[in-house]
Amino acid sequence: MSKHGSGTFIVNAANALQDEQLQTALTRAKSGFINKRLKAISMVDDFELLKRRAQLAKQSALANLPALLEQFEQNVQASGGQVHWAKSPQELNNIVLNLCRTVDASKVTKGKSMIGEETNLNAHLEQAGLKLIETDLGEYIIQLAKEPPSHIIAPAVHKTRQQVATLFKQHHNLGQRDLSQIASLVEEARNQLRMEFLSADVGITGANLLIAETGSVTLVTNEGNGDLTATIPKMHIVTTSIEKVVATLEDADAILEVLARSATGQSMSTYTTFFTGPKRAGDLDGPQQFHVVLLDNGRSDLIGSEFEPMLNCIKCGACLNHCPVYSNVGGHAYGWVYPGPMGSVLTPLLNKLEPFRELPDASTFCGRCEEVCPMGIPLPGLLRKLRARSHRKHYEPGGWRRGLMVYSWLATQPRLFQFCTNRLNQTLRWSGKLKINLSRLPRGWSRHRELPAPGKTFLSEWKKNQKQCS
Ligand code: SF4
Repeated sequence: MSKHGSGTFIVNAANALQDEQLQTALTRAKSGFINKRLKAISMVDDFELLKRRAQLAKQSALANLPALLEQFEQNVQASGGQVHWAKSPQELNNIVLNLCRTVDASKVTKGKSMIGEETNLNAHLEQAGLKLIETDLGEYIIQLAKEPPSHIIAPAVHKTRQQVATLFKQHHNLGQRDLSQIASLVEEARNQLRMEFLSADVGITGANLLIAETGSVTLVTNEGNGDLTATIPKMHIVTTSIEKVVATLEDADAILEVLARSATGQSMSTYTTFFTGPKRAGDLDGPQQFHVVLLDNGRSDLIGSEFEPMLNCIKCGACLNHCPVYSNVGGHAYGWVYPGPMGSVLTPLLNKLEPFRELPDASTFCGRCEEVCPMGIPLPGLLRKLRARSHRKHYEPGGWRRGLMVYSWLATQPRLFQFCTNRLNQTLRWSGKLKINLSRLPRGWSRHRELPAPGKTFLSEWKKNQKQCS
């Protein structure tokens, strides 16, 4: 399974724009997410207040992170579980594999875990001979397709219903069974997964929150697959990261209030489960062992840095759903686990900036991502900081860099600047009248959209637009 895009963002995005089935799937998904979110937040009296509560809970957790993580570990131990610390993806994968080996596991069921994607856990376990079955419907579909997820809450959003039906027919030996309806596709997956749940030795899930005061792990799903994955096998392993911890149940509640509304437009997800330790005497079900593996992977370096606000992210996906770039190119174009505006910030921070230099440019800076982010993360500002860092480190191509230098010099010469922009304005008006195709200018921008001819001056055009907007 390829985890990374085959080329740079620009190459991947150009291919995505040509992919008709992808474009159909993205168009269908887009309005659904946006409308449902709008409806969900209109049903509460003061969504801004809920957002502020959630942001305060997370900010105070980040300010006390080491102490809260210690408290979380003590309380997990007190309830009979164990916490493991992984500095790198490789360490997390080794810890999980060793845990599986202690119970002679041959089959593992797995709920959705972005941390598992970050460490490429599936490949690690499969190479060691374990059979691994994804149990989230979207993850199950892309496991069959041998593809990485393209959205953090809807991993198979890039697939059409017809593509899913074809995949099931290829892998499930169904004969001529009708799979034209969504309900029949869901039923088909459920039937396939039922036996896997019952025969798994280990269940791996992610976590939405970790609660320091109780040592609990909160998991939010809409399918119930996370609960079956966690409670039926003899061992439950949670793969998660350090910034998920909050101090109290009340703080967790504040975040849950905004999570589902921002993500799927529900007031609450169908299943919100708090796992606290393994099965106790008298419990009807639950695993015999409970382990939490906490990944750092560069996150602690962000504490106290200009990029710390990114650790407030609760992975709701709202910024992806409202991003004009993401909604046109989909998640695979971003080349790593986290797509959209949050991915364009997080990916260069958790990896190196140079190979992902194009991601901070993958934004129109329209500001919608920041506007809809329930955690108030200043995504355009963080992208701008990454652009500046890339510029300081000379990562951009020479021609682009030289162009920027010429522009920055020109912008400090008012008379010359005015003269040049007037000439440019005249050229654009002239090319508009003659219908000259400027498809390669600027940087292919006009290949997919009209470049309107400006008014008499740029200032007059701007004033006209302002009038229309007011
Ligand atoms: S950056 Fe904000 S909107 Fe985007 S996924 Fe994170 S919390 Fe949600």
